[in-house]
Amino acid sequence: MASHKRGEKRKKVKPKIKLEKTEDPTESGELSDDSVEKVVRKKKGKTKAPKKYIGAHVSIAGGIWKAVEASVDIGGQSFGLFLGSQRSWQRPAIDKTAAVKFQQACAQHCFDPAHILPHGSYLMNCGSPKDDVFSKSQAMLVDELSRCSVLGLTQFNFHPGAAINSSKEKCIKRIAEAINHAHKQIPAVCTVLENMCGQGSTVGGQFDELKSIIDRVRDKTRVGVCLDTCHAFAAGYDISSAGGLKTVLDEFDQVVGLHYLRAVHLNDSKGKLGCHLDRHEDIGRGKIGINAFRNIVNEPRLDNLPLILETPGRNVPESEGWERGHAASDRPSLAAAAGSIPVFSEPC
Ligand SMILES: [Zn+2]
Ligand SMILES: [Zn+2]
Repeated sequence: MASHKRGEKRKKVKPKIKLEKTEDPTESGELSDDSVEKVVRKKKGKTKAPKKYIGAHVSIAGGIWKAVEASVDIGGQSFGLFLGSQRSWQRPAIDKTAAVKFQQACAQHCFDPAHILPHGSYLMNCGSPKDDVFSKSQAMLVDELSRCSVLGLTQFNFHPGAAINSSKEKCIKRIAEAINHAHKQIPAVCTVLENMCGQGSTVGGQFDELKSIIDRVRDKTRVGVCLDTCHAFAAGYDISSAGGLKTVLDEFDQVVGLHYLRAVHLNDSKGKLGCHLDRHEDIGRGKIGINAFRNIVNEPRLDNLPLILETPGRNVPESEGWERGHAASDRPSLAAAAGSIPVFSEPC
């Protein structure tokens, strides 16, 4: 496994990434599930070979382009990042110079925008029954998508929302309303719903809740799902065995449709199956277990998706788990541990 050093170019360099106007005939209209599937399959068909794109959520401290450098340092082939402070509703805009540096770094290191998945602010609750929180969240969703556009990114992941003291049905309607509003304001960027663990009044723990949101989104080419393994397990989806993973993916396909799956967050779970607690654990140290992640990184239905680790993985003794024999911070060695996947050996 070879990680790439900063400044070192991989063999082939793509042109600078830029946001292109979609050629989909469905750009502004409402689409049926069938036609969405065809469009997505057509796009997937353009990729050369099935491949796993494993990376991690990386820091933007010191400048947004630092996320690219951090990802290169650990040999990541995909990455997640925040697009601003998680503590404030009012955030300074991303300046042009920083955006250009980010795009140049992505192009230099051959990161495809499809393998970069920004994570939304935790302040947002696009399903809030409180009008002031809803309108602030709706505005923040527009701002997040606009940041994606500035950075040349094409998709954006966020936690759908929580009903608080209202009903899940009303919450789902508001989430879809916020997404439709954001789609009107900002062209092209795809909104990606993260599945939740079913804690409290959060929406998105069950696959049918995600589908209910998708059903209400007008442009179905611009909505997708990111499957968080910890959240799924905590919500009651048993992915810990090979058979369990197959069953859960079958159910996802039946209820939502695998063509909506845009990414996976790779996290183990501190809590047991169905505990409804959002408590990530390092891979192989939680209740899901290392074998499940071996199955996940060998699952063909997860080919060509970004698989993003969200736990630091720094406190695991080298003698334990999948990190045995690798530096503790060298998280993408997960793929090497799983064997048989040439994750880092090919230029893009
Ligand atoms: Zn999340
Ligand atoms: Zn996650």
